Amino acid sequence: MSIHPAARQRISTRVKDVGGIAVSRALPVRERRTIGAWCFLDHAGPALFEYGQEGLQVAPHPHIGLQTFTWMLDGEVLHRDSLGYRQRIRPGQVNLMTAGRGIAHSEDTPAGIDRLHAAQLWIALPEAERDMAPRFDHYPDLPRWQDGGVNFTLLVGDYGAHRAPTLHFSPLIGIDIAAQQAASADLLLREDFEYGLFVLEGSAAADGEPVAANELLYLGKELTSLAVSLSAGGRALLLGGKKLNEPVMMWWNFVGRSKAELQAAVAAWNSGDPRFGRVVDDPRAPTPSPIMP
Ligand code: MN
Repeated sequence: MSIHPAARQRISTRVKDVGGIAVSRALPVRERRTIGAWCFLDHAGPALFEYGQEGLQVAPHPHIGLQTFTWMLDGEVLHRDSLGYRQRIRPGQVNLMTAGRGIAHSEDTPAGIDRLHAAQLWIALPEAERDMAPRFDHYPDLPRWQDGGVNFTLLVGDYGAHRAPTLHFSPLIGIDIAAQQAASADLLLREDFEYGLFVLEGSAAADGEPVAANELLYLGKELTSLAVSLSAGGRALLLGGKKLNEPVMMWWNFVGRSKAELQAAVAAWNSGDPRFGRVVDDPRAPTPSPIMP
């Protein structure tokens, strides 16, 4: 089945400042909060830093109820967290931080690195796991394959015989799709997933519908295949998952189920509650949470 026109949503990103870098934010927006459990999508770069510019500088801050999922395309970022992990992420790798009941981390461009191109997504944790102990995982090798002139990297989930190692707790998929020359490929989709295509570089088309760089085309569900075309140098992310049947609420860096829960997380972080711990080896003052109205 091809895309049902009524289910489509074309979502333009808004530009936000994150740690001194202009990022394009596609999720959440009023008309689209989630795609499966994917609940946040920031696209940083591609950016080149001038001599003396420090790049990304995100001081210690907390998370609850989600996984932060970083897909690195160019440059490097140093992740440090309150479990004691200190992990550089390089192009082609995924960093995954499962916040569970609470964690703090910082993210920075290391000295000597002059570029950044990355996507950071958040995955809402289901009810059964959202209070779990926090953990951090680094995935240096992900399944890759080619179809015609299209290069695929499976970031999370299963596709055909390919299985990504990436830890996740609800039915979910993420595929990076890239082409050096203009190329097309047909992808097999799951009818019980909803999907979206986000363009990172160049331009793309989904079943003939054009999608520009930094645009997200929400495709809906009940699709069994998708024809994706990319321009020369084009790159896109196919995101999908089973629709969450839980009311997800977000405030700042927190994902929860109620306003009272989010307000409690704000108060806990701002009062230095040990629930979040201290980011190792990072002397900067923690970033306070804005108060929830
Ligand atoms: Mn973060």
